[in-house]
Amino acid sequence: MVKASQLFYPTLREVPSEAEIASHQLLLRAGFIRKATAGVYSYLPLAKRVLRKIENIVREEMDRAGGQEVMMPIIQPQELWEKSGRWSLYGDEMFRVYDRHERGFALGPTHEEIITTLVDADVHSYRNLPLLLYQIQNKYRDEIRPRFGLMRGREFIMKDLYSFDVDYDSLDISYKKMHAAYQAIYNRMNLKYRVVEADSGAIGGNESHEFMVLADSGECLVLYCETCEYAANVEKAQCNAVPNPSPVSVQQEIEKISTPGLRTIQDLVANLGIPEHEQVKTLLYSADGDIIAAVLRGDRDLNEIKLKNYLGAEQLFMADEDSVRERCGAGFGSLGPVGLRLKIYADLEVAQMQNFSCGANEDDYHFCNVNMGRDFTAEAIIDLRNAEAGDPCPICSSGLQTIRGIEVGHIFKLGTKYSDAMGASFINANGEEKPMIMGCYGIGVSRTMAAAVEQNNDSNGIIWPMPIAPYHVIIIPVNANKKEQMEAAADIYKQLLAEGIEVILDDRDERAGVKFKDADLIGIPIKITIGPKSLQENLVEVKKRWESETKLVPMVKVVNTVKEIIAANMKK
Ligand code: ATP
Ligand code: MG
Repeated sequence: MVKASQLFYPTLREVPSEAEIASHQLLLRAGFIRKATAGVYSYLPLAKRVLRKIENIVREEMDRAGGQEVMMPIIQPQELWEKSGRWSLYGDEMFRVYDRHERGFALGPTHEEIITTLVDADVHSYRNLPLLLYQIQNKYRDEIRPRFGLMRGREFIMKDLYSFDVDYDSLDISYKKMHAAYQAIYNRMNLKYRVVEADSGAIGGNESHEFMVLADSGECLVLYCETCEYAANVEKAQCNAVPNPSPVSVQQEIEKISTPGLRTIQDLVANLGIPEHEQVKTLLYSADGDIIAAVLRGDRDLNEIKLKNYLGAEQLFMADEDSVRERCGAGFGSLGPVGLRLKIYADLEVAQMQNFSCGANEDDYHFCNVNMGRDFTAEAIIDLRNAEAGDPCPICSSGLQTIRGIEVGHIFKLGTKYSDAMGASFINANGEEKPMIMGCYGIGVSRTMAAAVEQNNDSNGIIWPMPIAPYHVIIIPVNANKKEQMEAAADIYKQLLAEGIEVILDDRDERAGVKFKDADLIGIPIKITIGPKSLQENLVEVKKRWESETKLVPMVKVVNTVKEIIAANMKK
């Protein structure tokens, strides 16, 4: 029960300059969130209500799928993270704190270490498995670029569930249950989403899916096929070798050309007229300390995840220019595979190319008419590039399409990665000791709130999907000084409250225009307006936030009308 005059929703007239995307702008403007510091926000009353609704939907579906809710510590001892090797591997993304005795702790970015230790201590028999435990809690990640408001916070709310099973068949069942539960969750929130294959790391046999809320501003690129069901994020989307579009039969003689000041693929296009797809670029990486070279077509983007997985590397990053110069005798922009004394990993397409150009490992020189096999050899020829729109679908070869999405959920088969590291085993039915088979399943709760806004807004503000709207209805008496309008409003307000409908009464002494604007901005799905004209005939105006027309409804029918609209839009 709430009156707008008492509700704490400090709206802003100006769009805060730091906010780039709609959800960030609108959640600030509509008084849902306030920034404490980069990537850290306070949630004001309207936001808290939305979060609670999202959490309740998540909780119900997790419980229905057999999950049991727990609450684990945010402060996690360094020793546990050392056991898994992640104290160092997690790197700068981990917030670390030290107590008065200089003992180190992580502010939990995720909870595999804690939960595996917890389950190991108390679960010893196959009779107690499967076990599905989850929590809804703040997570801490010192993101390199916290941005877009709640989308990429440094403190954010996550639901994380962990499954423990006796074998891989049983893990399959847990995984499928979670997959179905996630679909139920996003269906219940009325969000448009897509489930896509995601990268599952170097360990083979693992499976992973992401749940993407579709929005143009989404950070993730999804490739999908309309002919078959294939859909994958760009990290995962597989590229098959495609035949060279312009094959020639003669390998021409390799030629070294002087290219003073020409450094980039574009420089060669502009100055020498060599198209991007007839050039090869060479990128040097440090993979767990070893410098290696990746080569791919000039107009393609390297997929670091594919390279990292192929190498089985724990850490992969671009080599710095000093080490590049030391190893190759030239700087970035003049590198090439010919004569390079490093392990070369070539993209599938490079093997198909003929007579291409590349750097000569000497500043201001390039080679033309290079051919792989004749002029250099590769350690491996593998899929190394990002898939692009129009590429053939890896399943059915139709052209792939792209769409942007916001990753709101991620499910992942972990296998024995953490049970091995933390020593979590059980005794199976034959009396043998076996490692537990694990899965982990995350939902970004605060990110989901932002994603819902990103997908549902217009130039006037937010349009909350009914199931997660902070309130269902707002009642606006046009003139707060007119007794009969206020009385009619209060009457409808009481009736709606009696029906358990979540309603705001805008009792503020503001101009009608201000009240209408605020109602639209905060995105309440149903607006009831009580004005002098309609009142004479015992009518009120009912308007749905996502439609432009207004309906006149007899006062006595308004409660029913509202109930019908809510019911029809709770689930689509
Ligand atoms: P991303 O690739 O976006 O960084 P992630 O792969 O690191 O995500 P997970 O570790 O799988 O994410 O976390 C589970 C879920 O938590 C994600 O699907 C996402 O919805 C949410 N999430 C992850 N990082 C953040 C963040 N910095 N701010 C808000 N939500 C986040
Ligand atoms: Mg991340």
